[in-house]
Amino acid sequence: MSLPPVPLPEEGGDTGSSAGAASVSRHAPPWSGPAAEKIAIIGAGYAGLAAAVELATAGRQVEVFEASRVLGGRARATQIEGFTVDNGQHILIGAYTETLRLMRTVGANPEALLKRTPLRFEFPGQFVMSAPRLPAPLHTAFALLLARGIDWREKWAAICLMQGLQASKFRIEPDITVTAWLDRHKTPSRQRRLLWEPLCIAALNTPADHASAQVLANVLRDSLAGSRSASDMLLPQVNLSALFPEPAMEFITQRGGAVHLSHRVNALRREGNAWLIDDAGPFAQVVLAVAPYHLASLVPELASQVTHFTWEPIVTSYFSYPTTVQLPQPMLGVDAGLAQWLFDRGQLCGQRGLIAAVISASGRHQALSGAELERGIHEEIARLVPRLPAPLSVQTITEKRATFACVPNLQRPLAETGHAGLTLAGDYVASDYPATLEGAVRSGVAAARTILAG
Ligand SMILES: Cc1cc2nc3c(=O)[nH]c(=O)nc-3n(C[C@H](O)[C@H](O)[C@H](O)COP(=O)(O)OP(=O)(O)OC[C@H]3O[C@@H](n4cnc5c(N)ncnc54)[C@H](O)[C@@H]3O)c2cc1C
Repeated sequence: MSLPPVPLPEEGGDTGSSAGAASVSRHAPPWSGPAAEKIAIIGAGYAGLAAAVELATAGRQVEVFEASRVLGGRARATQIEGFTVDNGQHILIGAYTETLRLMRTVGANPEALLKRTPLRFEFPGQFVMSAPRLPAPLHTAFALLLARGIDWREKWAAICLMQGLQASKFRIEPDITVTAWLDRHKTPSRQRRLLWEPLCIAALNTPADHASAQVLANVLRDSLAGSRSASDMLLPQVNLSALFPEPAMEFITQRGGAVHLSHRVNALRREGNAWLIDDAGPFAQVVLAVAPYHLASLVPELASQVTHFTWEPIVTSYFSYPTTVQLPQPMLGVDAGLAQWLFDRGQLCGQRGLIAAVISASGRHQALSGAELERGIHEEIARLVPRLPAPLSVQTITEKRATFACVPNLQRPLAETGHAGLTLAGDYVASDYPATLEGAVRSGVAAARTILAG
């Protein structure tokens, strides 16, 4: 059943056929302003592009350098047999306000590109929780009260847990693991397994026994305890490069900026009052928006700020079945399975018969061979789809360092580097969010605003 793995860039680089990929640059007419006012952005993931869009919106001249020939970094389009998919199935939520705002800025309509549904957690035959269309905070209370698969005692415990968080203004001091926090509140085991632990893994990409309860509380504050629409799930109906990065590139170039693809920056150096990037420059400011494990090669002095980070993987297996195959819902949880979530890409983006199975964070699946893992997941899908035929093809993409492990009290680097004119952006930069698209976008916007305020 196993096909050869998709050639993935080591550490978030190019996804494509790589060999001899031509350098592609999208240029605007020559600069009108003084060259030294130009701002360079290294990395065209969601953070770098958010910074570039925010700066271009303010009329600043930006030049973006991206090592890959595909835009989007860890959230990018890739090809598998017969389909354009993503390097990993992503979901967004209504609380991703900055991502949605910047999508609108660049002309990418969230209403058309994302399938918005009220929060729904379903583990078939075990548990269903679905937020009714009621104003906050009733939507959450009723979601828990009406949940099927946990008894009244457990529902009450869940409501008390949320109320306790609210009463403490979502502060958990000192920070502890999610497991320790659930222990402290004597959370029943079934509720942990079907609600809090999957939520923790989905939001923090870190197993509950290692994950920061404070960061989970931050996410709950802005989603379940936020406005009703904040907890909505937003499932992409286009690939992740088309969702924001490609319209962002258009936006940047239309405003006189440039985006250089297939340009891996090798040298970043200060000369006088300006920065030089390889042979390009001078630049008045640089936003360094690479993944944390790329910092060392560009600015060795900053590497020590992330040496204590550890990483969590995400595996996405794409199963291509005959086009008649579909799941009962676009997104379903798998209770105690190898896969954690299944997505029906036919219902999401018209790729009929294509099912994406996602496994976030480290776990027992890592002990299996690719073929064993894919066979096990196929059997899990077969329990949901009567008379499921064998897949026509299966392709598994493993992102070994998908995100940093979001452990309690993790020290994250500040955006200010101590080097004049050099600002960091990325999902790992200090904030109260875990490694997510929204965290990346917010850090890019914050970096841009720091520059604009300077
Ligand atoms: C499989 C997977 C599933 C995920 N699921 C979700 C989800 O469901 N919801 C969610 O919100 N988040 C999810 N995430 C997390 C989210 O994708 C990341 O938090 C976000 O994409 C990080 O963006 P970034 O811009 O900070 O970094 P990156 O995306 O890593 O961008 C850095 C960019 O810098 C480039 N670069 C590096 N070095 C150089 C150099 N020397 N010169 C030029 N360019 C360079 C890289 O090629 C890359 O494009 C997932 C991540 C993965 C991997």
